[in-house]
Amino acid sequence: MLDNLKPTILSNYQLGLEFAQQQDQNDPLSEFRNQFHIPKDKDGNPLIYMTGNSLGLQPKITKTYLVEELEDWANLGVEGHTEGKHPWLHYHEFLTDTMATIVGAKPIEVVVMNSLTANLHLMMVSFYKPTAKRYKILIEADAFPSDKYAVESQLRHHGYDEKKGLILWKARDGEELANYDDLEAIFEEQGDEIALVMIGGVNYYTGQFFDLKRITQLGHVNGCMVGFDCAHGAGNVPLKLHESGADFAIWCTYKYLNSGPGSLSGAFVHERHAHNKDLNRFTGWWSHNKETRFKMRDEFDQLPGAEGWQLSNPPILSMAAIRASLDVFKKAGFENLCKKSKHLTGYFEFLINQLNNPNIKIITPSNPKERGCQLSIQVKQADKSLHHKLTEAGVITDWREPDVIRCAPVPLYNSFQDIYYLVERLKTIL
Ligand SMILES: *Cc1c(COP(=O)(O)O)cnc(C)c1O
Repeated sequence: MLDNLKPTILSNYQLGLEFAQQQDQNDPLSEFRNQFHIPKDKDGNPLIYMTGNSLGLQPKITKTYLVEELEDWANLGVEGHTEGKHPWLHYHEFLTDTMATIVGAKPIEVVVMNSLTANLHLMMVSFYKPTAKRYKILIEADAFPSDKYAVESQLRHHGYDEKKGLILWKARDGEELANYDDLEAIFEEQGDEIALVMIGGVNYYTGQFFDLKRITQLGHVNGCMVGFDCAHGAGNVPLKLHESGADFAIWCTYKYLNSGPGSLSGAFVHERHAHNKDLNRFTGWWSHNKETRFKMRDEFDQLPGAEGWQLSNPPILSMAAIRASLDVFKKAGFENLCKKSKHLTGYFEFLINQLNNPNIKIITPSNPKERGCQLSIQVKQADKSLHHKLTEAGVITDWREPDVIRCAPVPLYNSFQDIYYLVERLKTIL
């Protein structure tokens, strides 16, 4: 790991290419960009890739890690489980420590398994325990659709009306960001009817990074279980999951964690539940005590900690890609990345504000503590043709109807010059 970098938070951003070039030159993390495959346009020029919040780029070492497993499989067959260079039997354990560091958890609280929405359901099997009086689920109003569908189906599964059972934490009319006073009001009115609070730790649309600890405390005081979907937080912001006190969290690894399309998900279960054998769960042989798993006894013996939620032996090729990516994070140091991220996104915000265009509004919070790297930029009177034009100009962003461009400069592989050119091209198009 690089030595902890000195904070380089600059309040004096400047216009002009020279400033961006200087920042890149002074950036001790800039060499990491070369460790990634940056997609190119048809003339071979690197694209300005701003969608690491959707699919992170491929580290160059990923191929080596995958080939290693393919070779072990070719040469060893089933023996690879125990004799492989990285034996498959306990392969998920190679991921745990770094993943725990990134999400701010203890190793016993973290496991990589399954895909994201599947894990959300598995967590709700354990932490959504509705009763006739207390059965409602609270989520943020513009939650990622998969999360909303998942909680609705849990309500139906337990025989409750999904409309009555779902409470939405909405932004006020004319505002974009959810407001904590409104959350408190919801708890005051309906706190004793809410069984589960399930919020996206960083909202995918606005980029708002919620105060996980505050929400957890509010939920717990009101007798609710609390979980977070951190798909847009993991690898992006310091989540401090343990300290938040949340009962569970889940996240995917293909966004900021650069582990490839459709890759596995991470799950966090707070230490306080690690040895609770009374929690309801769905189980499989991978939830069984490791020491006796292969004795194939009839009697189930629950594995403690987050690992105890595993069902199946995992896909090693996907895990190899995660291991490669986590090794890159370990080398860079997650704290260093967070520092650079604040600086990059601050610069981005500065350039957008300097456009002085009345049709442009950043809906992401301006407080760096309430956001990660993503800025969601509303362009009034624009339509999707703006997104097409940006794409034609070599800028890969994400468009959300009706009028929002989401851009996520990622500190591992995006540069200050990326941001400079992105804003220049946006200016030209507008
Ligand atoms: C990306 C994302 C998903 C996607 O779910 P998968 O199960 O991985 O397909 C779900 N929820 C949130 C909040 C996301 O950001």
